[in-house]
Amino acid sequence: MQALVLESTRHLNLREIEIAEPPGPHDVRIRIHTVGVCGSDVHYYQHGAIGPFVVRAPMVLGHEAAGVVEEAGPAVTTLRVGDRVCMEPGIPDPNSRATRLGLYNLDPAVRFWATPPVHGCLRPTVVHPAAFTFRLPENVSFGEGAMVEPLAVGMHAASKARIKPGDLAVVLGAGPIGMVTALAALAGGCSRVFITDVQAPKLALAATLGPITPVNVREADLGAMVRRATGGWGADVVFDAVGLPQSFAQALDALCPGGCIVLIGMPGTPVPFDIVAAQVKEARLETIFRYAHVYPRALALMGSRKIDVRPLITDRYAFADSVAAFDYASQMKPTSVKVQIELG
Ligand SMILES: [Zn+2]
Repeated sequence: MQALVLESTRHLNLREIEIAEPPGPHDVRIRIHTVGVCGSDVHYYQHGAIGPFVVRAPMVLGHEAAGVVEEAGPAVTTLRVGDRVCMEPGIPDPNSRATRLGLYNLDPAVRFWATPPVHGCLRPTVVHPAAFTFRLPENVSFGEGAMVEPLAVGMHAASKARIKPGDLAVVLGAGPIGMVTALAALAGGCSRVFITDVQAPKLALAATLGPITPVNVREADLGAMVRRATGGWGADVVFDAVGLPQSFAQALDALCPGGCIVLIGMPGTPVPFDIVAAQVKEARLETIFRYAHVYPRALALMGSRKIDVRPLITDRYAFADSVAAFDYASQMKPTSVKVQIELG
């Protein structure tokens, strides 16, 4: 089949590739409609590796997908041919200890689309376990369905924060993950979100998404702004969707005593962290790695329109222009948030 193949660093091809995928009884075959371009896809394209994951053989990119079920195995009871669906890109070993504990995102054997050596979904069809395939509500488009994957990261972060109704949150970074984290925090009960960035157009867009206060950290002091808004107390939750040394300092400064910091952004190297600054506030630190058991709730929030990700889908490309889509995503304008590729 025709697929977008990363041959090696900076070398992408839309070409024929043979992928042997015999469907099992619990699998469905999905005709792919829309695939989002993720920062990780772009990173593999530009650098050929993320941490220990190195592209050593040609690999199909893409892991944020929605499509239509075109074949269902005999043991599949939850889905039918013709269902519009989106898919969780990580398939864990059902017998692993992590999976049995409910922590399937932490299964060391998880096979995740477009994480070497596993092929991704920028191709006409995929075979996928029905258990990791979810029907879209009628009012949710394929484009929104392909946004469930990044939204799931923000939802998992919001769950880890244990938000209480009325909490004030800070989100560091207004990239796609920062934006969906802000939406998840509001849906989870936060009264207001302060979101930071250095790109004015991203902040302007974020401010249209709900009770979200944009903070350009080039011009304004985040901690001072948050304290002014909270009678000097600070933010109940700080989500770091940046992962740079300066963002840890900002997080600790903006946090209230007893507050929670959720680390989402992944620093490229180990970074210094002011432990004493965290201790004097008894900060609770949470980390996340992808997500688990989030898709149904993300889809429910989209279906009820408590979360609307449509303003975040800023750029669309046809499958035939996939390489151009990746070149654009590698050097996006500050007005762009999410690039999607449409096959359907
Ligand atoms: Zn992604």
